[in-house]
Amino acid sequence: MSCDFLALAQPGVQQLSPYVPGKPVDELARELDLDPAGIVKLASNENPLGPSPRVLEAIRAELPELTRYPDGNGFELKQRLAARYAVAAAQVTLGNGSNDVLELVARAYLAPGLNAVFSAHAFAVYPIVTQAVGALGKVVPARDWGHDLDAMLAAIDQQTRVVFIANPNNPTGTWFDSEALARFLAQVPQDVLVVLDEAYIEYAEGGELPDGMTFLQAHPNLLVSRTFSKAYGLAALRVGYAISSAQIADVLNRVRQPFNVNSLALAAACAALDDTEYLAASREANSRGMRQLEEGFAALGLEWIPSRGNFIAVDFARDAAPIDQALLREGVIVRPVAGYGMPTFLRISIGTQAENARLLEALRKVLAR
Ligand SMILES: *Cc1c(COP(=O)(O)O)cnc(C)c1O
Repeated sequence: MSCDFLALAQPGVQQLSPYVPGKPVDELARELDLDPAGIVKLASNENPLGPSPRVLEAIRAELPELTRYPDGNGFELKQRLAARYAVAAAQVTLGNGSNDVLELVARAYLAPGLNAVFSAHAFAVYPIVTQAVGALGKVVPARDWGHDLDAMLAAIDQQTRVVFIANPNNPTGTWFDSEALARFLAQVPQDVLVVLDEAYIEYAEGGELPDGMTFLQAHPNLLVSRTFSKAYGLAALRVGYAISSAQIADVLNRVRQPFNVNSLALAAACAALDDTEYLAASREANSRGMRQLEEGFAALGLEWIPSRGNFIAVDFARDAAPIDQALLREGVIVRPVAGYGMPTFLRISIGTQAENARLLEALRKVLAR
């Protein structure tokens, strides 16, 4: 007789649902017998510009070294990040995507009997990394779809070791300002690690969003995570990082896999950091695309949550699943967010002008039925 190996998994893991990624283009093409070239994917907050030529060149230069292990300490990339943020290289943690850094935090600081506080409608990885190590996720109700920082403060108890906050948040796109962050950090107990996830910070314009890095010195319990997956356009390579106190970085370094960031990713990230033109183009395309989509949604009579990311959560005011299905049949992939407690919404990533136009046209057709 075979055992029930689900029942044998630790309770936190039994209660997890696997992360649901955006549907891959080739999968939809197979399912509906469509030409993959005609499919538009606006489901994973990917950079629509394609990779930067400078990044491709850096990767090509690295290829002859493919038989070697990568630099396990990521010396060059850490040096560059340290210089950029005026911190010591010992304060930098590199990750196989910033998801990896979030997991390192959970493995190092959470355990059964302890908890992490995060918001409703927050990034799906927070509950995954928390429950995976047997800790409890304390989910705090949102206010106007965004983080209710006061309620999050109130949720912190003796067993809380970590608070995850995202600015802007995914999938809602909501954000908080510098004053709100300062007030929050001033009140969080000093033995609670605040993980400030700034995956979309490069898209923020005009100082509307605080730069988490400027709070590090005054708050040794703060860790700021960022990624090369979004504005830098390196999602496939999996590379992200955190800046924290050197002591926290040392702790995270103890639990990471020895070669957690591969050599192509390291080379690409170094090249991407210097590529100010690509970053400016990413921002510019995003702002333009955001306006294009907002105008299009308004013309369709739709409501959305104002966003500072590279995506918008649109409210259809009814079950959005049939709309998602109809869009798929039009060859447009967006992201259902029912799993985030937002069943009437779809999250739509900002694409190229042509992709955005395709999405709006498909929506118009679908909603007219
Ligand atoms: C996309 C995203 C990340 C980045 O993930 P990577 O592992 O770096 O690709 C982190 N946090 C949030 C909120 C995100 O949306």
